[in-house]
Amino acid sequence: MSTIPPVIAIDGPAASGKSTVGKLVAETLGFLLFDTGALYRAVTLTALRRGIPIEDEACISDLARTIHIDLIPSQEKDGRPYTVLVDGEDLTWAIRSEPVDAHVSAVSAYPGVREALKHQQRRIAWQGKVVMAGRDIGTVVFPEAPLKVYLDATPEVRARRRCEELRARGEEADFDEILAGVRRRDAIDSTRAMAPLRIADDAVVINTDDMTVDEVVDAIVQLARERFDDPA
Ligand code: C5P
Repeated sequence: MSTIPPVIAIDGPAASGKSTVGKLVAETLGFLLFDTGALYRAVTLTALRRGIPIEDEACISDLARTIHIDLIPSQEKDGRPYTVLVDGEDLTWAIRSEPVDAHVSAVSAYPGVREALKHQQRRIAWQGKVVMAGRDIGTVVFPEAPLKVYLDATPEVRARRRCEELRARGEEADFDEILAGVRRRDAIDSTRAMAPLRIADDAVVINTDDMTVDEVVDAIVQLARERFDDPA
């Protein structure tokens, strides 16, 4: 019988702080952060760049099966949590652009895309010592995860945080537009037929509305120390 590797699944809606919190939890415990949204974003960006219509499910599913995506620890000092390489090209910031935000939920609703990316995600999970951030890690991708956290916050709080993040990078951010985008993605992510966003039965739910990033990180690190024999 194989032993389940130490994996922390962090799921939650758009802009709930999964990658910010996940990065700090991973650093504290000496784990790797694997932000699975980056995979869906990379497929979406590549489709847009190649002029593949977002409605072309077959073509986009093929693309998900064939492009090579790497997430690697970063040496850059520009605030990135990790570097994203798509077929060797650094697209770390491009996958966070507005056109990708607008289309990624449609792309990630395609079963062919989810199936292709699930295999990549499970392969990495089995390497262990990984914090996996996403929507369906605890429910579908790696339901064996010994620690599952569901991060939540109201759409308004999430939109405000996303605005602050964009402005800190010198980009323009319109609160109402971002709030509408967050709501639209919530609706698509939680109603899609395959792997919709939902809370795993055995997940610990953390509502971050009135919590600082450090408080959320401390809470998860504490849970990991209780749950794993030697999490560092
Ligand atoms: O987390 P992030 O905002 O980068 O995710 C982008 C999009 O990718 C989400 O809105 C969702 O549609 C999709 N996604 C998903 N399953 C995951 C991670 C992300 O469907 N595990």
